[in-house]
Amino acid sequence: MSALGFALPEDVLAARDGILAFVDHEVLPRHARHAAVLDDPRGRYREDGRYSDAALALIREVRMAAAAAGYFQMCTPTSLGGGGLGHLAYFVAWEAMFRHCGPRHWLMLYALSHWAFGPSRMLEKITDEARSRIMAGLMDGSRSMCFGLSEPNAGSDAAMITTRATADGDGWRLSGRKIWTTNAPVADYCVVFAVTDAERARAKQGGISAFLVPTDATGFRIERVIRMFGHVGGDEAEITLDDVAVAPWQLVGELHEGFRAALYGVSLGRVYNAARGVGYGRWALERALDYAAQREAFGQAIAHYQGVSFPLAEAATELHAAHLMGLNAALLLDQGEAAVKELSMAKAYAVQVGFRAVDRAMQVHGAMGFTNELGLTEAWHTLRVVNVADGTNEILNRTIAQRLFKGDTAL
Ligand SMILES: Cc1cc2nc3c(=O)[nH]c(=O)nc-3n(C[C@H](O)[C@H](O)[C@H](O)COP(=O)(O)OP(=O)(O)OC[C@H]3O[C@@H](n4cnc5c(N)ncnc54)[C@H](O)[C@@H]3O)c2cc1C
Repeated sequence: MSALGFALPEDVLAARDGILAFVDHEVLPRHARHAAVLDDPRGRYREDGRYSDAALALIREVRMAAAAAGYFQMCTPTSLGGGGLGHLAYFVAWEAMFRHCGPRHWLMLYALSHWAFGPSRMLEKITDEARSRIMAGLMDGSRSMCFGLSEPNAGSDAAMITTRATADGDGWRLSGRKIWTTNAPVADYCVVFAVTDAERARAKQGGISAFLVPTDATGFRIERVIRMFGHVGGDEAEITLDDVAVAPWQLVGELHEGFRAALYGVSLGRVYNAARGVGYGRWALERALDYAAQREAFGQAIAHYQGVSFPLAEAATELHAAHLMGLNAALLLDQGEAAVKELSMAKAYAVQVGFRAVDRAMQVHGAMGFTNELGLTEAWHTLRVVNVADGTNEILNRTIAQRLFKGDTAL
């Protein structure tokens, strides 16, 4: 059943259906077999907050199986050896997986290369030497990376970063701190953004460059794993760079133009998170509809009470709009548009309405809504956090307003 008045391209539908079948075959059975590792935080994390060896082995297995089956790298550009599917396929596949799996079957996060952890479009401009050194491991899923932009004193205004790349021979030395870097605790490489020309950076005229840094490089240190939202472990870390030597082959794209790569990376994150908002929202709505139809109070199913059914109708309306906005923004990106306004709208709206849908689903479930087994609280946590990651709602509104006042009022 589709609510769309237009057809999605055949290759996009085939990619979506294929990856869902992969998830059914490779991800769900692992969750059933390894619940003690995957469901129980005591099995999932080590004392220091990193994933346990058993959890990491399962993550790697899923990545490598998905790579062998051709799904993991299907949205990686062909120039890097990937399948070359575009932003629309990326949005559609992620949305379908989030909706299909919900938050409990989280190994599905590793079935498709995440823009910041795997072989991503962001790497299109790496050097030939970097390609030969690192791409094979990223493409076959045995290795992963992370995206080091934010710093303790530079978040929304990321151009304020102070990590420095000081010229040294034909290379550079990096010093500074990064924070909130997702996947850093277990990544093999980090794309580190650093100031290479302080004057240009101050004037917001470039001056920031991106470097591929192995996480075992001398001077690269994971300071701590950051526990978010009461979790006992986590994906985010704080990093220190102390005089880390980098050579010209490690430069990503052009010198001083790294901020462009950062903005492009973040825009991929917005596609991903728009899909996550819609997917989790639809997953929660479906749980709520089932529950409301069978749970009885005062002599009939609670679905008969408008106090229960109207919030779900509103959630469905909002999710439908968010779904269309996400599809449209992804299509514009595939047409070569920057889609700054449309993608900002899609991400901010999808995350907010996805969160609201999950919240309403919790309410419909009564006390049941707060149990760990159902996973609604996990989706609620995740979407709450995504109101900040990859551009806060306020920063996205700021971007939309800037576009509007520049005359971009097309809607
Ligand atoms: C789960 C998670 C994962 C992340 N992963 C990564 C990662 O992998 N790599 C990475 O580099 N970063 C990562 N981040 C960091 C993320 O990009 C930043 O949190 C985000 O850019 C906001 O920055 P900040 O947290 O420093 O908030 P601040 O920039 O300090 O903002 C604080 C508040 O002020 C508001 N604000 C700021 N400026 C304005 C303005 N002009 N108008 C109105 N309101 C404003 C913000 O909206 C926010 O509400 C992650 C964050 C989270 C939560």
